[in-house]
Amino acid sequence: MKIEFRKITSNASPFEIKNSTFISRGTFRKLSHKLALLDFHLYAPASLVCDRCGSEYLHELDKKVSLKVSDGTFEGEDLDVIEFFDHYVDFDAIMTSEIEAERSDYHFCPKCKKQETTGE
Ligand SMILES: [Zn+2]
Repeated sequence: MKIEFRKITSNASPFEIKNSTFISRGTFRKLSHKLALLDFHLYAPASLVCDRCGSEYLHELDKKVSLKVSDGTFEGEDLDVIEFFDHYVDFDAIMTSEIEAERSDYHFCPKCKKQETTGE
């Protein structure tokens, strides 16, 4: 899903994206001429392989995300702004990068995670 920057208004607009990889629901609104804010809930279940024991397990990414996107280069102080250069906000790309960022970390299956925290 892509939305043109100039069509984003200062009133929060709801959106929902559902596909085979994730479900995302939230709102987007314009903060300034070239800046918009996205608030959403992202749910993405996936089968992952544990980095410790190698067993496959179901990992359910389930989190609230709030991020800013800019139309072109962002020249402010905020480092967490995602820039788009074709005047469209690409929601699918945002969700995919959120999911990738989470999965590029080490991930342990629930059993190993438990051992990690209890020190067994
Ligand atoms: Zn494990």
